[in-house]
Amino acid sequence: MSVDGLTSELPPARSALCCHCTRWTTAPVEVRHIERTSGPGVTLYVCPEHAPDMMPGPLAGELEAFA
Ligand SMILES: [Zn+2]
Repeated sequence: MSVDGLTSELPPARSALCCHCTRWTTAPVEVRHIERTSGPGVTLYVCPEHAPDMMPGPLAGELEAFA
């Protein structure tokens, strides 16, 4: 391993706002994808702590199978 491998910056952590407690989480869990008529759809996330409490909705690509 080179020194560069030890000192290079880490990739940015994937984070998202929990739609249940509105706190930022670095381990977001997708719970729902909302299609919008104006623009791209929106994916909602929750933190792992609240994931078991959320009823999962359709995610991106799941509805097309039934169309
Ligand atoms: Zn949460």
